[in-house]
Amino acid sequence: MISDTVFAAELAWPDYQRRVQGGAVPILIPLGSMEQHGHHMPMHVDVLLPTEFARRAASEIGALVAPPFTYGYKSQQKSGGGNFFPGTTSLDGVSLINALKDVVKEFARHGIRNICIVNGHFENSWFIVEGIDLALRELKWSGINDVKVVVLSYWDFVDQASIEKIYPDGFLGWDIEHGGVLETSLMLLLHPNLVSLQNAVEHAPATFPPYDVYPSKPEWTPASGTLSSPKEATAEKGEILLEVCTRGIVAALRKEFNFEGDVVAAE
Ligand code: ZN
Ligand code: MN
Repeated sequence: MISDTVFAAELAWPDYQRRVQGGAVPILIPLGSMEQHGHHMPMHVDVLLPTEFARRAASEIGALVAPPFTYGYKSQQKSGGGNFFPGTTSLDGVSLINALKDVVKEFARHGIRNICIVNGHFENSWFIVEGIDLALRELKWSGINDVKVVVLSYWDFVDQASIEKIYPDGFLGWDIEHGGVLETSLMLLLHPNLVSLQNAVEHAPATFPPYDVYPSKPEWTPASGTLSSPKEATAEKGEILLEVCTRGIVAALRKEFNFEGDVVAAE
């Protein structure tokens, strides 16, 4: 039994209770997906990356990390290739909303008052918002008014200076980064044994019309499943990304969870 771990589920319940009682210790919940990430990466990239950001941020600010959500909302063609690929295994929106709502309310029941959703899968975004909104509304009905939830996606912390270093030939936007340089560079740094760069398929960045069609048209997505080529990914770029995102997440949580000596304003 490890009592100094940041991973909540590794604790025995009395140790967990000691850590969370009083509500000062935040819990970080990584949210991912089981989704194809091209020929060169496994299908749990969106779980592994936010879990690692959460682990690093939690050890810096003295928080806990909840077990990650390993399934997410359906892969969308213009941000994740589409939900038609073998292997991609997704939840209905209502399932994700309800599961997240349940978990937020459970942590609140234990006494936790500061929660951070560390998202690693773009398509989860609005369902996270809804799950939290419903949880906070129901908690309020139970007389619990002091739960605060920070929602973030790690890639939003990449600043312009880092983008210029990582994409010297121009940056085409996070939506077509699926399985591209961002995720592959981080995986090369953090989980090199799970990446086979020699299997990566080089192709031009995906282009899509400014609308969606359902059912999806598989021919819109590059056959490899990635939306831009991962060939320029390196562990060194992963280092830049890991550093800038971890620093940004830690600063955001210190600020929002009043870890800078601020007096918590009565609300
Ligand atoms: Zn991904
Ligand atoms: Mn994804």
